[in-house]
Amino acid sequence: MPGNTYETNLQTIAATASEKEEENDHFLRSLKHYNGEELDAKVHVIYNDVNAAIDCTTCGNCCKTLVVNITKPEIERLAVFMNMTEEALREKYIEESLAGNTFINTVPCHFLSGTSCSIYTERFTECRDFPHLHKPGFRERFLGTLLHYPNCPIIYNTVEVLKRELKFVE
Ligand code: SF4
Ligand code: SF4
Repeated sequence: MPGNTYETNLQTIAATASEKEEENDHFLRSLKHYNGEELDAKVHVIYNDVNAAIDCTTCGNCCKTLVVNITKPEIERLAVFMNMTEEALREKYIEESLAGNTFINTVPCHFLSGTSCSIYTERFTECRDFPHLHKPGFRERFLGTLLHYPNCPIIYNTVEVLKRELKFVE
């Protein structure tokens, strides 16, 4: 929000997240008292500000920690982009579960170069959507959001601003 400075140091965020585990657990349980749509509206405003202030290309931490699901059409598009056969691409970069779900076979992701995505224009829906704070259903997804809170500056700062705005903390 105007005047807010945001924490982007990954070590600081991880250490603070560890100290705030109990507080976040209380915050999680407190969310059931809020109207979901009003909460989403508030989160979207906060997220837009935080997202505009934080440069993901200097972070890339989600690409080091997430298992990235990838759909069949995305595999086909990537094969064309990389000038590979789909079979060769699958062999090199993709793992398939017994249920038929496909995902990038390394964490960190193969396509991370430094802190940036080397296939940025072709990155997958899951990459584009992370950390999912622009979507409805913040309250229902908050447990999952908290899993990434220690690793993602956008999540960390959005949640911290939200706690202050809801007067959950000073
Ligand atoms: S494809 Fe790019 S954006 Fe997606 S996880 Fe890999 S490096 Fe990150
Ligand atoms: S989404 Fe979060 S973890 Fe991923 S690059 Fe952006 S700030 Fe870093």
